[in-house]
Amino acid sequence: MKFGGTSMAGTERIRRVANIVRRQAADGNQVAVVVSAMAGETDRLVNFCREANALYDPAEYDVVVASGEQVTSGLLALTLQSVGCKARSWLGWQLPVRTIEAHAKARIDDIDGDALVSAMEAGEIAVIPGFQGVSDDGRITTLGRGGSDTSAVAVAAAIGADRCDIYTDVDGVYTTDPRIVARARKLKAVTYEEMLELASVGAKVLQTRSVGLAMKEGVRVQVLSSFVDDDATPADEYPGTMIVSEEEMNELVEKGEMERQHVTGIAHDKNEAKIILTRVPDKPGAVAHIFDPLAKAAINVDMIIQNVGRDKGETDVTFTVPMADLARAQALLEDKRGDIGFNRIITDSHIAKISVVGVGMKSHAGVAATMFRSLADRGINIQAITTSEIKVSVMIDEDETELAVRVLHTAYGLDAPDNPAD
Ligand code: ADP
Ligand code: ASP
Ligand code: MG
Repeated sequence: MKFGGTSMAGTERIRRVANIVRRQAADGNQVAVVVSAMAGETDRLVNFCREANALYDPAEYDVVVASGEQVTSGLLALTLQSVGCKARSWLGWQLPVRTIEAHAKARIDDIDGDALVSAMEAGEIAVIPGFQGVSDDGRITTLGRGGSDTSAVAVAAAIGADRCDIYTDVDGVYTTDPRIVARARKLKAVTYEEMLELASVGAKVLQTRSVGLAMKEGVRVQVLSSFVDDDATPADEYPGTMIVSEEEMNELVEKGEMERQHVTGIAHDKNEAKIILTRVPDKPGAVAHIFDPLAKAAINVDMIIQNVGRDKGETDVTFTVPMADLARAQALLEDKRGDIGFNRIITDSHIAKISVVGVGMKSHAGVAATMFRSLADRGINIQAITTSEIKVSVMIDEDETELAVRVLHTAYGLDAPDNPAD
């Protein structure tokens, strides 16, 4: 069981969580619980780091931001004890959760599940702070924002759990962010492949890496709400959204429990920025000169457009980078101006990426055309386009994000009916 920040925000909410956990244990389940920091706490800690030193050392940043989950894991263990359960916390370095790669965006390499399994077999509930691990040289690491989802899936894999229930503040995965579209529909199931794509284009309900890991390790994941009444459907009857394989999805469709749509979901991302380099020489190697230094600096480039060469053998190259890396990318490119040979560098962080995702589009033409036509009808200008087998993304002005998501949700027939029969 994993509980996100909103579920852990304060001792009252932690008491509700303890009751949900206690019920699972009382039903005869052995339970490990992964927790996030209280809502807003990680942001607060990140700000402290920025104030202390704008160019902070990521290793010390990890020391600071990992503390949020330490607090909630101890508090949940205490609360569970207060309602009569045996429970203890297991910090990242105690298990240990071994991680590799960079501080602040570490990856889990391996979790030793033995101690957890023994404790659980002895009837103790294991409480594990999400988001944190330990590096080879014994220092605290964190997994990148939203990383507790990945901690939960990794713990589930390490102990061979029957299921990984991700409790959050919405009752499942919806056709789009239900905070933007009131008529978004809850999905009974979504495939790993689609969830991976949705998460990677901005649906923050699950961290992208958690979905990749669940797919690789075959972990059964359910997304569900912790804000439920005592008489709500128990988690074992799948009140939330199950992440399933394509075979399972086909079975659900055959049984009439799921409908096949061309588009399964829509996501948006406001955290990217656009860079345009004007008058780049239109010759072999020019683009490599631009992207080599960015790759070396571990800056992820997403959408790329190179216009057809204009006269004089020159062209413009446009691409996006994460907003957080914009300043660094700009400085690197300025530095390489001589090698690249561009005229001007124009940046814009006032953009958003809107993506429509669905395995149904593999075998159906016209999904992209519907997107372009619907946006055009509302006067929304498309600045760039990228596609994959199961996704179409467009870049638009950030101010038009919500409108675009709503328009597309309607255009693909995803809106819930006016009076849902319940
Ligand atoms: P937690 O703190 O539990 O990890 P997050 O805030 O990280 O929760 O993720 C849950 C949020 O994800 C929801 O409140 C919702 O606004 C947002 N969200 C974005 N896209 C979707 C979607 N397709 N389905 C459900 N929630 C979504
Ligand atoms: N507390 C961390 C964050 O806010 C990790 C998480 O909640 O998943 O990013
Ligand atoms: Mg989250």
